[in-house]
Amino acid sequence: MARIGFIGLGNMGGGMAANLAKKGHQVHAFDLAEAALARAKEAGCALAGSAAEAARDAEFVVTMLPAGKHVRSVYENEVFDAVPASALLMDCSTIDVASAKAVEAAAGAKGLSMVDAPVSGGIAAANGGTLTFMVGGEASDFARAEPILAAMGKAVIHAGGAGAGQAAKIANNMLLGATMVATCEAFLLAQKLGLDSQTFYDISSKASGQSWSMTSYCPVPGVGPTTPADNGYQGGFATALMLKDLKLAVEAAHGVDASVPMGAAAESLYQALANAGAGGLDFSAIIKFLDGKIGG
Ligand code: NAD
Repeated sequence: MARIGFIGLGNMGGGMAANLAKKGHQVHAFDLAEAALARAKEAGCALAGSAAEAARDAEFVVTMLPAGKHVRSVYENEVFDAVPASALLMDCSTIDVASAKAVEAAAGAKGLSMVDAPVSGGIAAANGGTLTFMVGGEASDFARAEPILAAMGKAVIHAGGAGAGQAAKIANNMLLGATMVATCEAFLLAQKLGLDSQTFYDISSKASGQSWSMTSYCPVPGVGPTTPADNGYQGGFATALMLKDLKLAVEAAHGVDASVPMGAAAESLYQALANAGAGGLDFSAIIKFLDGKIGG
């Protein structure tokens, strides 16, 4: 069993750290929030007084923080100078590709090994240990990371070199955001043309318009499997987080001169939904915005 420093015990990190402790790892956990620390203690983690203390003596460091600036500050100001040279650093946060590459390069300059390992799956998957990890970094570092990440997830995939995990994550979520908007538009068009939503689902889910947004995450209540739409668009994947990922995708696209008109359109629609006060609703609530029932 490994000694793991875990920094960032929020909605996602709290469940992930608990799963590592449950599997018998020695987890030394830190967060700025008292409530997060209390939950980690209850789950069997030892508490650290700072990020540096969590990293000291660690064989692995896992971070699950809000954004690139937090990741850079935690590693550059605390972890790099505290962690043993043999440790493997794993950032599981969703952050911009440029920050991921910069922090991995800074780790390398100090002789430390680091991977980016963002996740697909929300709070339920973090709690249930069923996340999917997309890992960017050297193959030998991936091999070391895999068994630790597997203790928190159902799949661990090597995406490529430094930053490739973040690239996979934001490209995937840009596709998800755009297909969700398109799926919602199609349902609303079908309704206005007089089609029953269940009938449209039965046809399109077996035809060329089929997508995960339709068949696994249908935005229409009472149609398809049970989804946040059946619960007033509560729970699921918050609009604010989808907007964060779309902004990261569009920003990354600008940096490499990639054309993403559908991603940019999805970003502006999710921005409008968030501006209408619905940032906490599941991202499938974009159907209510398109239908004029939120905002407008
Ligand atoms: P969260 O805000 O609930 O948790 C972040 C935690 O980091 C907080 O507890 C905060 O106190 C802590 N923190 C911030 N700065 C810190 C510092 N300097 N030192 C120690 N702790 C610090 O966020 P979350 O929902 O757990 O998301 C974490 C990351 O996972 C984000 O990058 C998010 O985009 C990504 N993500 C979230 C979801 C989701 O459904 N929530 C899904 C996939 C990926």
